[in-house]
Amino acid sequence: MKALRYLGPSVLQLQDVEKPVPKAGEVLLRVKACGICGSDVHGYLGLTGRRTPPMTMGHEFAAQVEALGPGVTTLQVGDRVAPYPVDFCGQCDTCTSGNAHLCPQKRQFGVLTVDGAFAEYICVPAHLCFPIADGVSYQEASLMEPLAVACHAVNRMPDLAGKKVLIVGMGTIGLLVLQCCLLKKPEKIFVTDLSDSRLALAKAMGADVCCNTDKGEKLPEQVDVAFEAVGAEGAVRSVMDALKFGGTAVWIGNNKPVIQVHMQQIVTRELQVKGSFLYSLEDFKTVVGLINEGKVCLKDLISAQTDLEGAAAYFKTLAENPGDLVKVVVNP
Ligand SMILES: [Zn+2]
Ligand SMILES: [Zn+2]
Repeated sequence: MKALRYLGPSVLQLQDVEKPVPKAGEVLLRVKACGICGSDVHGYLGLTGRRTPPMTMGHEFAAQVEALGPGVTTLQVGDRVAPYPVDFCGQCDTCTSGNAHLCPQKRQFGVLTVDGAFAEYICVPAHLCFPIADGVSYQEASLMEPLAVACHAVNRMPDLAGKKVLIVGMGTIGLLVLQCCLLKKPEKIFVTDLSDSRLALAKAMGADVCCNTDKGEKLPEQVDVAFEAVGAEGAVRSVMDALKFGGTAVWIGNNKPVIQVHMQQIVTRELQVKGSFLYSLEDFKTVVGLINEGKVCLKDLISAQTDLEGAAAYFKTLAENPGDLVKVVVNP
């Protein structure tokens, strides 16, 4: 089968590799759509240490069941599914407390050395596969994973009703955080980005106030809660600056291990910072429901589609000059 192999910083090559065979409890999936994540682009550049070459990236995918491994009874050949892309032990304290995504033994498909879905086929444990409703395309379903990231981040704040909320960064995650926030009825949502077209998308999705910080536009007021969906020092700073006394920041961006933060600002203004990483299996179940019931709009986030042959060029574009691209989906 064909797989897009990551061989080292900025090197992706389409190679013929052995088609995987499903082990007991696994299914062989024919990958139909796999989104290019910001973390893939940063991994491709060799910046994060989260992709260890040689390997195949791709963790945002939707697929069709092609074959069943021994003992699989919950799925059938031909089923359309979106997998929870974190394989966990299920036994440790972290797993049994509902935090499988933090399991010390977890394997994330398409991360570190574990092969992912920029390939024609992948084997995945059957219990991680969630069915996709008939009306949902594979491309939309591939956005299940980033939506779960957003849903988990928004759930880090139990109550947004009546609150003023800021989201910094209107990439895929920021736009999906916006949609998840809207479901929780805050008083007002402010968003910032450097691109007018991404801000226009946010406006159409329901953001109240859009600021293009590249043009020096400033937030008109301070907020109770601010989500950071970029992972850069300037974005973190703008999130902290925007908070009211006692406000809470949720950091989602994860591009650089170390940045500078203004400690005194956090201390003297009694700010809180919460990290948000991945999503639990419960979060994933929630977003499968949201997508299958049509409660979120995913189509508009897909700016381009390509095949495995064209994927490497899109990695280069996303790394060097993403322009107005939001989500690029690869259809292997
Ligand atoms: Zn991702
Ligand atoms: Zn575990």
